[in-house]
Amino acid sequence: MKIHPLYLNGELVVTSATRPVLDPATGAVVAQMSTCGRDVVAQALAHAHTAFTTWRHTTGRSRGDLLLKIAAEMERRQEEFARVITQENGKPLAQSRGETAMTIDHLRWFAEEARRGYGRIIPPQADGKRHLVLKSPIGVVGAISPWNFPLVLAVRKVSAALAAGCTVVLKPASATPLCSVLFAECVHAAGAPRGVFQLVAGAAGEIGAEFLANPLCRKITFTGSTEVGRQLIAGAAAGVKPLSLELGGHSPVLVFDDADLPRAVDGTLIAKYRNTGQSCIAANRIYLQRSCAEAFLAAFVPRVQALKVGPGTEPGVEIGPLINPAAVDLALQHIADAQQRGARLLCGGRRAALPGGAFLEPTVLTGVPAEAAGMCDETFGPVSYVNFFDTEAEAIALANASTYGLAAYVFTRDLNRAFRLMESLEAGMIGVNDGLPTTSNAPFGGVKQSGWGRELGVEGLEAFLETKHASLVIQ
Ligand code: NAP
Repeated sequence: MKIHPLYLNGELVVTSATRPVLDPATGAVVAQMSTCGRDVVAQALAHAHTAFTTWRHTTGRSRGDLLLKIAAEMERRQEEFARVITQENGKPLAQSRGETAMTIDHLRWFAEEARRGYGRIIPPQADGKRHLVLKSPIGVVGAISPWNFPLVLAVRKVSAALAAGCTVVLKPASATPLCSVLFAECVHAAGAPRGVFQLVAGAAGEIGAEFLANPLCRKITFTGSTEVGRQLIAGAAAGVKPLSLELGGHSPVLVFDDADLPRAVDGTLIAKYRNTGQSCIAANRIYLQRSCAEAFLAAFVPRVQALKVGPGTEPGVEIGPLINPAAVDLALQHIADAQQRGARLLCGGRRAALPGGAFLEPTVLTGVPAEAAGMCDETFGPVSYVNFFDTEAEAIALANASTYGLAAYVFTRDLNRAFRLMESLEAGMIGVNDGLPTTSNAPFGGVKQSGWGRELGVEGLEAFLETKHASLVIQ
């Protein structure tokens, strides 16, 4: 069985220690991934630091050129990327193709942004003084990415950091390291200088501890659960290490009776069931205005029941396996908890009768009490929790009653209402009649316990730049 390499200081390195990678659709081991200990991570940070001393002084244009070459390599191999994502993550192949295309677009966006690390000149308040604001790359970055969008969420960090003039050591999720190996091969083929990008894998706690403790690592950028985010915040205190955190979400959907109903149904379906519900911006709580609830559910539930469940490689599949059978167990617990508290099951609610044990029937529950587990914590599966409201004020209060604040979705044709909601909802991203708001050129991130900072947009580059003020006295 193939052992996939790490990427250390310009070399693809196969190690003797390995970890199996499973196909979630079958539970079968499909590859072995090389792993390393904390000592190798420390060496990688040292190499990244050496590379930084040169990389930081390159022009934005030349850094952008490297990102464009990586994008071109990825484009040449995009079908291979898509198949690897489906193999290790399980998502339907069409969605893996979409993830690969978005990743290439991120590289191209940051290739352009690399030229735009603008400072500014401030008019003086005292005679003879001049004030300059300079932007400089923060230094070596430790990047940690999750399994649910294993390629795009890793490259979102790497491309922005490289564009800013930083060097990066990436630790992908243990379940899904293979697409990061393919990415490393593309970086290598594009001719990146040694040490500018490196890939490590192994015990998360050890790698995270080295990123936190090693003074050469100047920033950690993390996407994953709020629980691990909290641990990183605690660990960062000693070294006052800057963190960017993209954490969990619990996104509400608000459907008003003035909405275009078919659009609201399409948008809610995609916001909930894309990536088999395993998305940080997935719709977790669906609130329907009582006057349109019956019509919405009459259209929505048959569409959910019609979603084709199966292995991601099978044509027409829209719902793949969850990441492992334990994730189905957790979703079933949330469904049972909601039912015990009085919720009504409209469809689904069972493990799908397919081999492997990681498939869940797409599910809809209504009348779910606010205390139900799935109304408070991410179910991270294809489960809709539907509730009802009467007034706009009630809808806003329900939507904001969460410790998370990543995304929110609103369906209405009233422009005044849309503006009131954009301004009132406590979320970093708001889709108005749009179930798919993410794009390379707009900021991505959350408020409250959904994280710190933003990726993508102009903010994405900013996250890897330091701001310096230089004050000059001139004669
Ligand atoms: P996770 O368990 O927090 O893992 C995320 C990454 O952190 C993985 O690479 C993991 O490594 C690593 N990790 C685990 N423990 C660590 C530690 N003590 N120190 C340093 N790193 C550690 O999250 P997940 O289950 O992969 O992803 C799902 C979660 O991510 C959900 O909560 C979802 O909402 C959130 N998410 C947020 C966004 C966003 O943009 N806001 C996007 C996607 C996902 P191992 O795999 O080796 O354990």
